[in-house]
Amino acid sequence: MDVIDRANDLSDWLLAKQLAAQTGHRPAGDSRADCLECGEPIPEARRVALPGVTLCVHCQTLMEKRR
Ligand SMILES: [Zn+2]
Repeated sequence: MDVIDRANDLSDWLLAKQLAAQTGHRPAGDSRADCLECGEPIPEARRVALPGVTLCVHCQTLMEKRR
């Protein structure tokens, strides 16, 4: 990877970050490190498998049962 590619990647990343801040939306793939409901840490494997995941397995299961 050369310097120009790196610069483009960086500006893309900054743009996405600014856009996310403006719209209040988190960019896709930005998973939470801990559960939105109970605060338990979400395993990295789960975050990789489900980009943008915000709940641990336990809370996700409860949420699905509520539907
Ligand atoms: Zn949870």
